[in-house]
Amino acid sequence: MTAAVESTKTSSAGSLPAGVVTGEDYRTLVSACKAGAYALPAVNVTGTNSLNAVLEAAAAAKSDVIIQLSNGGARFFAGEGLKDEAQARVLGAVSAARHVHLLAQHYGVCVVLHTDHANKKLVPWVEAMLGYSEQEHKRTGKPLFTSHMLDLSEEPIDENLATCARLLKRMSPMGMSLEIELGVTGGEEDGIGAEHDGADNAKLYTQPEDVAKAFKLLSMIGHFSVAASFGNVHGVYAPGNVKLRPEILKGSQDLVQQQFKTPAKPLNLVFHGGSGSEKEKISEAVSYGVFKMNIDTDTQFAFANGVGKFVLENPKAFQHQIDPVDGKPYKKFYDPRKWLRLGEKAMVERLQEAFVDLGSKGKSLAG
Ligand SMILES: [Zn+2]
Repeated sequence: MTAAVESTKTSSAGSLPAGVVTGEDYRTLVSACKAGAYALPAVNVTGTNSLNAVLEAAAAAKSDVIIQLSNGGARFFAGEGLKDEAQARVLGAVSAARHVHLLAQHYGVCVVLHTDHANKKLVPWVEAMLGYSEQEHKRTGKPLFTSHMLDLSEEPIDENLATCARLLKRMSPMGMSLEIELGVTGGEEDGIGAEHDGADNAKLYTQPEDVAKAFKLLSMIGHFSVAASFGNVHGVYAPGNVKLRPEILKGSQDLVQQQFKTPAKPLNLVFHGGSGSEKEKISEAVSYGVFKMNIDTDTQFAFANGVGKFVLENPKAFQHQIDPVDGKPYKKFYDPRKWLRLGEKAMVERLQEAFVDLGSKGKSLAG
């Protein structure tokens, strides 16, 4: 190993057990990201194919990783045949979490288990998952999930923060963390998000005063992170439609640091709508204390592209079990393990780029 490679290793490497991290271990991981100025990709999964691809990708990159489910992803994980959607959203998330708990340690990296946007209507979804974490915590001393997100950014700020405080009070005794949203991430994700068009809309930029208000209330209760809006949007749009202003993140960090006399970068910041962002803006955001960048659109496309290429190259195998002209059997082509695996591999490959962009490659804390 060269000296240059050695010096990029964080001093805490090998400090955590591989597998799902919660509580103090999660705090250690978040602090290491901020101290080392790198971030972890938070990848949305909808089934075991995408989920296993994330684990495989993280193991290949020797990076820790965040696995998350949206409410729609959780419902899909449970199977769309389940008629009670509210129940399916809970059971699917729990099923995915149990899958990760069983497998993650065998991939040799640290894995954060998280759920994505929950607006006011979905607060009961989060509360039901907390019920499962409480059972798990009683049994094993660890919650089922590392953290959840509440996105009440469409509500008045005081109502947003009061609900966040109420849930964090329930989560904190289990060592769980809460991600909150201040300001509105543009675009739309699972029907949540915004009809705010135009990147110059003031609502698309988080106000540092709101962040300070959140810090004052929530830092007394437990560990939390902030999805701040700095012009980011969900989805991928034509260049020029999005004006990222990462300096807004620095403004919030500086204000909280001054007002509450904290060390530098007191806030744990989250970057939503990372797909399709310019690499320099990503690096700049990470340097201001972003430890988590969500990625969904780009990995969805990678998976579909991997499958799609194979289908286009072998169209007959998706219409005939045996070739109607020459009698060639297509079993080896239509076997789902063949084409789903190509989707997984394409997703693994796309994620390698994300680990490099975010600077987390080779920095797993797992020992
Ligand atoms: Zn988001």
